[in-house]
Amino acid sequence: MSIVWPCALDMPTYVQLGQRVEGGDHLCTGCGKQLAPWGGYWRWVRGRSTGRLWIRRGRCSRCRRSHALLPDFLLERRLDEVEVIGHALALGIAGGFGMRSVADRLGIPMTTAREWRRRFQLRAPALAAALVEWRCSWIRPLYCSPLMVKQLLSKRLALPGSELELASASVYQHCGDSGV
Ligand SMILES: [Zn+2]
Repeated sequence: MSIVWPCALDMPTYVQLGQRVEGGDHLCTGCGKQLAPWGGYWRWVRGRSTGRLWIRRGRCSRCRRSHALLPDFLLERRLDEVEVIGHALALGIAGGFGMRSVADRLGIPMTTAREWRRRFQLRAPALAAALVEWRCSWIRPLYCSPLMVKQLLSKRLALPGSELELASASVYQHCGDSGV
């Protein structure tokens, strides 16, 4: 089982550190006990700096489960950096670009981009529910203006200006001032 943790390092720095990278302190998701370092493994990542990186593992001394400690720029079983995947989905779904065009812009295989969109669309209802829940807990009773949507998106996705405008407009239309 994997634990995704907020990593302060950017991906190129993380890659460069190799096995010297720190995994942070984490609690077992099964029983809550502090995990002890338990080696790790190499995996590939494709993105701003394609390469192999070291994923630390932690093990619980109580229930003996081991956990992969994934920095938050990675997804389990996905080769690409999370920022690239998010950018592709924003362009393809919110931005209205075809996935062939998205793949060309980002330098990724078209089959990969299509697969992300397919999986995202399968999970879209759950993601939309999570977004509404998040809005309810964080924004209510504040009015969520188009500017707020844009600011929230710009913090999470590194999109150039025109694409950010498109994505924010689309998200605002679906989730903005809709009386949640
Ligand atoms: Zn445990």
